[in-house]
Amino acid sequence: MARRKKVYEGKAKILYEGPEPGTLVQYFKDDATAFNAEKTGVIDGKGVLNNRLSEFFMSGLNHIGVPTHFIRRLNMREQLIRQVEIIPLEVVVRNIAAGSMSERLGIEEGTPLPRPIIEFYFKDDALGDPLVTEEHVIAFGWAQQQDLDDMVALALRVNDFMSGVMLAVGIRLVDFKIEIGRIWDNDFQRLIVADEISPDSCRLWDIESGRKLDKDVFRRDLGDLGDAYAEVARRLGVLPSNVTHAAKPHLIN
Ligand code: UDP
Repeated sequence: MARRKKVYEGKAKILYEGPEPGTLVQYFKDDATAFNAEKTGVIDGKGVLNNRLSEFFMSGLNHIGVPTHFIRRLNMREQLIRQVEIIPLEVVVRNIAAGSMSERLGIEEGTPLPRPIIEFYFKDDALGDPLVTEEHVIAFGWAQQQDLDDMVALALRVNDFMSGVMLAVGIRLVDFKIEIGRIWDNDFQRLIVADEISPDSCRLWDIESGRKLDKDVFRRDLGDLGDAYAEVARRLGVLPSNVTHAAKPHLIN
């Protein structure tokens, strides 16, 4: 039997050649990594939850006119996506100080920011994804000024959408990371949201209890990551309410 071609394998996902030109199949693994892969683990069912959660967020964004790479979910662990040329930047949006910003600037975790702050990190594992400015981005040719303006606009729209969706289920969106890719429509280039949007790349705090429902549970050894992600999925209606992590994620079609 012919094997499909692997295009790329990252820490949490694999990309395979898609059924048509310009498409890829994105497979979600159960692997978790943190601190630039210094800490690793396998979280049973995480890939299934992130596939479904990323579908939920990306298809919601598509519906409100924020373009993403998501086409459709194929099965428990795979989704069909548009092939993009990834811009080598991680775009982080922060609403509340946490993580590296709190450390770098000495701002206590949980301090609300006066406005959403957008940061760019250069995607380079060997360098540990350093924080860069727009000056670096332009000078080194990673993106043009127009791309940067479009990326900021996209990131802020994603922030508004995600903040609202989370607030509706009692969760505060503290910060998140997105990746953005270029696609070509004939001679015109467009930027769209790519990669994934899931609790692996967001900070999500329960509004009432402050409980962390994101990858910090793994980074900081705060409990069972699968339980935290299943809780997010359950609140969003992506999983039936009686599913516990022990019972394994169970998809609603
Ligand atoms: N983030 C991510 N991938 C990375 C780095 C950060 O998804 O390689 C996300 C992280 O989950 C958080 C936000 O981006 O929601 C901001 O992360 P931060 O800069 O505080 O870094 P961290 O504390 O994760 O090292």
